[in-house]
Amino acid sequence: MRKLILAVAFLAAAPVQAWSQNGWDDPFAAHQVMDNLYFVGTGGLGTFLITTPEGHILINTDFERTIPMIERSMAELGFDLADIKIILGSHAHGDHQAADVFLRERIGAQIMIMEEDVEGWRRMNRGAGEIPIDRVLHDGDKVTLGGTTLVAHLTPGHTRGCTSWGMELEENGRTYNALIVCSFGVNPGYNLVDNPNYPDQAQDYRATFAKARAMPVDVFLGSHGSFYGLRGKYETLQRRGEGDPNPFVDRAGFLDYIDRYEQRFQAMLEEQQRDSR
Ligand SMILES: [Zn+2]
Repeated sequence: MRKLILAVAFLAAAPVQAWSQNGWDDPFAAHQVMDNLYFVGTGGLGTFLITTPEGHILINTDFERTIPMIERSMAELGFDLADIKIILGSHAHGDHQAADVFLRERIGAQIMIMEEDVEGWRRMNRGAGEIPIDRVLHDGDKVTLGGTTLVAHLTPGHTRGCTSWGMELEENGRTYNALIVCSFGVNPGYNLVDNPNYPDQAQDYRATFAKARAMPVDVFLGSHGSFYGLRGKYETLQRRGEGDPNPFVDRAGFLDYIDRYEQRFQAMLEEQQRDSR
């Protein structure tokens, strides 16, 4: 009987365990990355707040259940969820943009989506077919609020409209280029060889790796903390003394991320090409 109860308890707990393995629902300490850019995400989800005197920009709403965590993180930093004026996202997957419409309905912010991700975004956001997108973005478009400008870099492959967000940050009299990487990952189940829904996917990945390598990135961030070593860098940040470098300045880490993900992409492509013969 005891064994049975344990088995039932395990089964009941299993989905929760699988869920929190990637840290999506684990709280993570809100922190200033640099200048007016803050981390307000979770252990597994990269959500970023850009504050300005005219209101704020939020990158990645994640899931509806993540919004209270984002709100708490913002409050800890002294900011109000209701002051978000613009909602942006990394790409049209549920773990980054499933709560866009939900949040807009609550606070009335504008939603801006990269053109190539509009279709996927509408499919993902319940009932969003009738709900207008405030601005459709194109590669290189600038989003400006309260003196801060973000640049939407189209880095397709993971999705058609995968968007990496760039901005300039200042610290101790120096200017740094920050990039919040969309994702260069190949998900399980992606068909890179002959996908009728995305025939140019492999080509897009290749172009994205080349484009990213040429970008002048100093501050390396991403839509999942695991991309840029969030935990380790946050710990370093806690120990940071005067004159110590900002741990998020990490061009080598950015280039290493590109290399690792390109190798994974290449291996997956070759495996699928072998299998399709
Ligand atoms: Zn994704």
